Amino acid sequence: MGKKKEKTNTLSGQVCPMCMKKTLTLSETKMEVPYFGNVFIFSMNCSNCKYRKTDIEAEEQKEPCKYTFEVSNKKDLNVRVIKSAEATIKIPHIGVMEPGPASEGFISNIEGIINKFKKQIEQLRDTEEDPAAKKKAKNMIKKLQKVLWGNEKIKIIIEDPTGNSAIISDKAAKKKL
Ligand SMILES: [Zn+2]
Repeated sequence: MGKKKEKTNTLSGQVCPMCMKKTLTLSETKMEVPYFGNVFIFSMNCSNCKYRKTDIEAEEQKEPCKYTFEVSNKKDLNVRVIKSAEATIKIPHIGVMEPGPASEGFISNIEGIINKFKKQIEQLRDTEEDPAAKKKAKNMIKKLQKVLWGNEKIKIIIEDPTGNSAIISDKAAKKKL
């Protein structure tokens, strides 16, 4: 995956925005992502109330973007994904992950994204009482599992008005948002 340079600065004893105690640790990690550039991973962690938040920002100013990627084999699952807290991830016919207070930034891969959706739908399947909705959830989980086995294709779309997200692959189509 190329060389990885990381540098972290932390600042502890900060005021937590949730519990207002001085138990918050801020950290900033600078990391080089091949074919994207340097990114900063900002995180907040409160040891008192357990509040945590992570976001990602590119060092270089980027333009609002939309990436479309078709997952068509097992190799595609390893494709690197950078997602900021402002990004929306869509998997047509499966679901949408929207930005919001609970939204986090992360660096993962396609497999990680599919697993996040799968986990959400599994929760839905387990709590849903309507049999039709339950069945629909079960079918979506089956479909995602087939994609993870490399037996089915799926499309993943990431839109980010801040431009701080990316799907790092030649196969990914990038457009201005
Ligand atoms: Zn707190």
